[in-house]
Amino acid sequence: MNMRTSNGVKYDVIIGLEIHAELATKSKMFCSCDNDAQGKEPNTAVCPICLAHPGTLPLPNKQAIEWTILIGLALNCRINELSKFDRKNYFYPDLPKGYQISQYDLPIAYDGFLEVDDKPILITRIHLEEDTGKLIHPAGKAYSLVDYNRAGTPLIELVTEPIIKDAATAKKFAQNYQQILRFLDISNADMEKGEMRCEANISIQEKSKWKYANGQIKPIGDYKLNPKVELKNINSFKYLEKAVDYEIERQIKAVENGEKLIQETRGWNNDKSITFSQRVKETSADYRYFPEPDIPPLKINQAWIDKIKARIGELPAQKIKRFKEEYLFSDYESRILAGDQDLAKYTEQVVSELRAWIKATGDNWERQKHKLAKATANWLINELFKLLKTDNLSIKKLKISAENFAEFIALTYQGKVNSSAAQTILAEMYKNGGDPTQIMADLGLEQLDDKETLEKVIAKIILKNKPQAEQYKAGKTNVLQFFIGQIMSATKGKANPKLVLELLKASLSK
Ligand code: ZN
Ligand code: MN
Repeated sequence: MNMRTSNGVKYDVIIGLEIHAELATKSKMFCSCDNDAQGKEPNTAVCPICLAHPGTLPLPNKQAIEWTILIGLALNCRINELSKFDRKNYFYPDLPKGYQISQYDLPIAYDGFLEVDDKPILITRIHLEEDTGKLIHPAGKAYSLVDYNRAGTPLIELVTEPIIKDAATAKKFAQNYQQILRFLDISNADMEKGEMRCEANISIQEKSKWKYANGQIKPIGDYKLNPKVELKNINSFKYLEKAVDYEIERQIKAVENGEKLIQETRGWNNDKSITFSQRVKETSADYRYFPEPDIPPLKINQAWIDKIKARIGELPAQKIKRFKEEYLFSDYESRILAGDQDLAKYTEQVVSELRAWIKATGDNWERQKHKLAKATANWLINELFKLLKTDNLSIKKLKISAENFAEFIALTYQGKVNSSAAQTILAEMYKNGGDPTQIMADLGLEQLDDKETLEKVIAKIILKNKPQAEQYKAGKTNVLQFFIGQIMSATKGKANPKLVLELLKASLSK
């Protein structure tokens, strides 16, 4: 949906995103303090530099610069050969210097794009800066506390062009960006922990009364543009979508009611599901940006860019595409299996083991791979994930090696175990690891395929349940389920279900 209608007037929705992400470097942006303050006492991961003691000098973190170039290249950006840091001046208790070292007119990366549903969303810039400390407001107390552990953490800020037209696309953009940050292993980008923070600039305009050109929104004729509202304090993708949707509706209603919209910053209230005014927005002039005098400009030459570029592997979108083409996974399966670096690696190891096994049996891999990939995806997504989710574990903690998982798939594929026995084997492998063939033998779970044995069991059960057998002959075919249940329990769930059904029908019809 890119257009809202109200009272017969049509509106265009204009959304731009600003996303901050903390880089997971070892040390902070301008000093050698530990950048991981998780679980540390407040104000223990600090030094005179990040506390802004007089006379200290900032020394830029090379890793942070390289990672900013890396994410820029991954998002199809151009890299400024000459970049620099600037001071953004403002006062806030969590900002010890009284200014933030950021980048103003020469960001490291600019002019890129990230695809959402196969459509490029243009990225204006990605620059590098430092994070602030954290203010803590103890409940019921008349004071606030400040923790500077986070002060000086490297922070990258991505800004999109104001060309997003609906809340769902804004959410997907942020999700895809998070996926790439994690793929490149440069940020945990957890929104709940504040490692990734999204802000959305939103305005609505009467349709066709404005145009977007040269990076700016311009009115047509003497038509006035509505001011934009900046949404802040959103800590999940779900709330990002909700807040943007709420704000679009609020602005349209305001215009319809003849209320004047003002340029302001609004926050999101999770409990009430509304946005609320926080402050009237500063313009960049208020920040009085000027070049950081203590850090020389950054020269980024092509050789350095090429070296970093060589490190970018396959990105999520490419991997998803390849999973579909190469392994014939469905779109849904590919998005899940290729969407996470560790899971993608595991899946590929499993498939590669299966390929080796099929080749060893002398069969044709190309002919069998669809069925095997399907079985792999099914067991991974529908069974293994459920177990991992129950225990809140990541695939990294999985005790089942790719080799053993492939062997497990091969067992089910060959029909050596039926699906209920397979579930038992998988649960055991999940708990203690181990070889599935061995587990199958130890637990006596090998599928019962012997016709004579099964016929004997079936005959006994029919004899014990004569009334039900009569019902079947009278046309009540749903008693089959009753018999199958009896047979399965008599064989401890090991009987081949297909064969059981076939033999049972034959015996009952005698
Ligand atoms: Zn420090
Ligand atoms: Mn910023």
